[in-house]
Order: sequence, then structure tokens, then C-alpha cells
Amino acid sequence: MTTLYDLIIIGLGPASLTAQVYALRYNMKVLAIGGVPGGLMMESHKICNWPGEPGISGADLTKKMTDQLAGMNAETVIEEVKSITGQKGAFTVTTRSDKSFEAKLVLIATGTKHSHLGLAREDFFYGRGVTYCATCDAMFYKGKTTAVAGGGNSAVTAALYLSDICPRVYLIYRGSELKGETAWINELKAKDNVTLISETNIIDLKGENKLEAVVLDKAFEGSAELAVSGLFVEIGAKPRNELFVAMGGVVDDFGFVKVASDMTTNLPGVFAAGDLTNQSNYFRQIATAVGEGSIAADTAFKALKS
Ligand SMILES: Cc1cc2nc3c(=O)[nH]c(=O)nc-3n(C[C@H](O)[C@H](O)[C@H](O)COP(=O)(O)OP(=O)(O)OC[C@H]3O[C@@H](n4cnc5c(N)ncnc54)[C@H](O)[C@@H]3O)c2cc1C
Repeated sequence: MTTLYDLIIIGLGPASLTAQVYALRYNMKVLAIGGVPGGLMMESHKICNWPGEPGISGADLTKKMTDQLAGMNAETVIEEVKSITGQKGAFTVTTRSDKSFEAKLVLIATGTKHSHLGLAREDFFYGRGVTYCATCDAMFYKGKTTAVAGGGNSAVTAALYLSDICPRVYLIYRGSELKGETAWINELKAKDNVTLISETNIIDLKGENKLEAVVLDKAFEGSAELAVSGLFVEIGAKPRNELFVAMGGVVDDFGFVKVASDMTTNLPGVFAAGDLTNQSNYFRQIATAVGEGSIAADTAFKALKS
């Protein structure tokens, strides 16, 4: 007989992990389905703004959270979801391998995905010099010259991480100033193997079978071509809203799911939480994701009882 879950949570990032803790403590029948346990947390080499942990890797913080859930007998399926159909009281969630699960309520916490530069051969060079995750791929570029594209927190922390293992790191950004945490920016500026290249765009990628150089729209030290073995693209993220939009869900102008302060959406029985939403002043952090996850679980519990 098919199990009818009270709540199915899509995603396994911090928003989902927190929602699971709350929902399980409310004694709800919960299933979480997601691609990457820990979500984007796994890409962070060092997290210094999570209370109680002065400096912890994303992998270690994920393990602490998932260990807690394992101790609560949480049910998890590690797979991508391809569709959500049905309505409040009777949703069907189907995974890429065509497994189906039923739930009364659904919480979508699918976060965001990395933006691309949109260059002609960017896809070709993906995995051959171009990467979107410094924490995952930096070690492949140990001892090599690398570049980071972007001027926000992700780019700054990627450049910092690379500066520990690469002889030279170029940080290339469009604006005149770096944006992000002052502490990280100051640390970066103190590094003598990091070169900041401001008000500059990467307009082409060169190489035969692997990346050999990036082409800039403005010459740097006399040349528009910069020889690098790796390019880390850290230029922001887009909401992973496909499942929600396919159900007729309403998103804002940037594609973030419109939620009320209780994490309800325009679709009855469907909640959203974390980086995916337009809440928390668009401040996409672990602390805000867990806040939204806890509210969503609380609202779902109340919906179940009403
Ligand atoms: C390099 C880097 C460093 C960071 N450092 C920090 C930091 O120091 N401090 C901090 O507070 N924040 C940091 N962040 C941000 C933080 O990681 C995010 O704000 C947080 O992870 C968002 O949580 P979330 O649960 O909303 O989404 P995510 O963590 O993005 O998780 C989304 C989940 O949804 C799953 N998913 C997506 N689509 C589907 C689908 N169709 N089917 C099933 N599952 C799906 C994914 O596999 C994943 O499990 C960092 C981010 C990056 C990239």
C-alpha cells in the first residue's frame, strides 16, 4: 500500500534539514527528497557565521545536521524530483527514475543554481578548466594559475581559498568595488599572490581541449589575454523554480518564489523556504534558510491540524 505522507520536502539543503527536524518533532509523517545532501552548504570550505561554530567546513556542518536527522529516523530519498502534481491533500511527487510518492502537503526548498557567463565555448570548457564550485574543484588546480570571475562573497571566498594552493589568482569583476563581507575582502587584499582586476569582463575563452586563457574586454598589463589553467565562475545564482512554476506557482521578477511571511505560496498546500524564496530580504544564507525552513514546517503542521 502506498504511504500517504503528511509532508514531502523537496531539497536537502539547510532549509529542508531544519524543516525536517521541526516536522518530525511535531510527529508528522515526513519524507525529504533531494539531489545533494547539504545543498550549497557543501560548497563552502569554511563557514564562520553559523552561531556556535567559529569555523566549520560545509561538509562537516552538513554531517552534523544529517546525523541529527538520522537519529530521529528521518526518511530521505537522494534523487532529483521531476514533477509535482495534484492538489492539497493529494500530491504526487515523481523522481527522475519514475518513483512516485504521495503527500498531503509539499514544501519546496530547491535553492538556487549557479549563473553562467554565457560565453560561446563555456559549456565545452566545463570540466576542462571552467568550474562553478571552488570548494569542489580547487584541488584540481593546485600549483596552477587560476582566475575567478565575480565580485561578491562567493567570488571573494573562492579567490581566498585558491590563494592558499595556487601561485597566482586573478579576481576579475565588472564593478569598481568588491561586494561582500569586509572581513573576507580585507583578508583577500592582504594576499600578495592575488591580483584584482576591476571594471573588466571576460568575453572569450581560449584553448584547444582545455582552457588555456581568458580574453578580457580591457587590456590588463598590456594584454587582453590572460593565461590561466582554471576559471572559477562565481557570478551569482538563479532560483531553481521549475517544479513550482510548472504547477502554476507565482514567482517574482527574478524568478524567486513569492511567499507570505508564513511561507505559504499562491498554491494551497504548497510551501517554499530558503534561497528559493523572495523572503529574508533576499539575504541568502544558512541562517535565513533554516529560519524559513522552521516557519514552513510550523505552518504545514498548523495546516494539517486545521
Ligand atoms: C561557495 C559558497 C559558500 C557559502 N558560504 C556560506 C557561509 O559561509 N555562510 C552562510 O550562511 N551561507 C553560505 N553560503 C550560502 C548557503 O550555502 C545557502 O544560503 C544555503 O545553502 C541555502 O539553503 P537552501 O536549503 O535554501 O538551498 P540549497 O542549499 O541550495 O539546497 C537546495 C537543495 O535542493 C536540491 N534540489 C534542487 N532541485 C531539486 C530537484 N528538482 N529535485 C530534488 N532536489 C532538488 C539540491 O540538490 C539541494 O539539496 C554559501 C554558498 C556558496 C555557494
